Amino acid sequence: AAAVGAPLPVLGRDVTVPLVTGGEVTYAALDYAASAPALQRVWDDVAAYAPYYGSVHRGAGYLSQLSTDLFENSRATIAAFLDCRDDDQVVFTRSTTDSLNLLASALPADCQVFVFETEHHASLLPWSDARVTYLNAPRTPEQAVATLERALADRDPYGPALVCVTGASNVTGELWPVRELAAAAHAHGARIVLDAAQLAPHHPVSVRDLDVDWVAFSGHKLYAPFGSGVLAGRADWLKDAEPYLAGGGASRTVARRADGGVEVEWHTTAARHEAGSPNVIGGYAIAAACKALTEAGFDSLVAREQHLVATVRAGLAEVPEVTVLSLFGDDAPRVGVISFVVEGWNSSHFAAALSAEYGIGVRDGLFCAHPLVRTLLGSDPRDPGECGAPDAAPGEKSLNAIRVSFGAGTPDEHVERFLNAVR
Ligand code: PMP
Repeated sequence: AAAVGAPLPVLGRDVTVPLVTGGEVTYAALDYAASAPALQRVWDDVAAYAPYYGSVHRGAGYLSQLSTDLFENSRATIAAFLDCRDDDQVVFTRSTTDSLNLLASALPADCQVFVFETEHHASLLPWSDARVTYLNAPRTPEQAVATLERALADRDPYGPALVCVTGASNVTGELWPVRELAAAAHAHGARIVLDAAQLAPHHPVSVRDLDVDWVAFSGHKLYAPFGSGVLAGRADWLKDAEPYLAGGGASRTVARRADGGVEVEWHTTAARHEAGSPNVIGGYAIAAACKALTEAGFDSLVAREQHLVATVRAGLAEVPEVTVLSLFGDDAPRVGVISFVVEGWNSSHFAAALSAEYGIGVRDGLFCAHPLVRTLLGSDPRDPGECGAPDAAPGEKSLNAIRVSFGAGTPDEHVERFLNAVR
């Protein structure tokens, strides 16, 4: 195993926040799963490029040419980071949510979709209800594969089908058996899209090795700023689909028709789904983050993060009132995302106290994965009742949970402060 090195420099590490108890403290950002702080390296790269940016694909000037090159080269950097196949496309989007909605809009007619009820809402909701099969929460990775295989065996074997699955849960941090699920999907003639929003920041993702058809992730969780995301993978369904957005940039030629309408020939490249002036800085920043993470090396990033996971798990295990939420069991491998409840505490009050008294930023709630969190808290995932309402009295069962999450920029002091606060 690689040695546990120093955290990578990130923005905001010297920011101080006021405490209700008086004085100030440096902010401990322990909500990486929502949005990670940008790497200093990414920010520096963007700052170096910013004075030179110009319109991409839309200008003859030198800076437009430069920007177009940098923007297009960013796709190649991202494709290399994801170990994509040679003919895969890298489409720039706004976020993982946007990427999965784009794919949903590009499905062939009659495509059946299979998705576990435990998914983040971004993976759970974009599919048309009529064609989607929601799979019950599995309690082991093997059960996940068996559940999917059973569902696929029952499907119409001649129609197109898509499986959508997360690589790492945004609630429990647990890793899902992506390679095995992809093999099951392909054995039954289905395709698979990997929601790598929580996986890509913590683990190398190889499209080839996992054998997934598409992968989606967000820049703001991968140490780049907000506003950009990626859908990468097979070109065929994407180039046959209606453009996600209609407009300039997506269209190759437009002419009036004899009948009075317009005739459009759409691009068959990634541009087909990227109409309008793109988020050049956002795409460039994602590529900068891919380079920075590759240079830092996932071996040492994983070693450091697993050291923090072990520290947090051990610290929380010492507090009898704490229950850590887990679908696959205590020993399941996980990334730096840990959710828990504290007996006698309302999770929202607990998270508010961590902020106000210790300068620690975590998240409370149901984390855009309502059915999963309801299952983990022992309530009925079919109960449409109030979500995350901060109304559990001391001693009552929590309706929501607390999530602590961290990554490449997290110093030991942040998790130590967090554990002290919990104690
Ligand atoms: N999938 C997972 C697993 C996530 O954790 C998130 C963000 N919490 C998303 C999808 C959606 O990402 P975004 O909000 O950037 O669209």
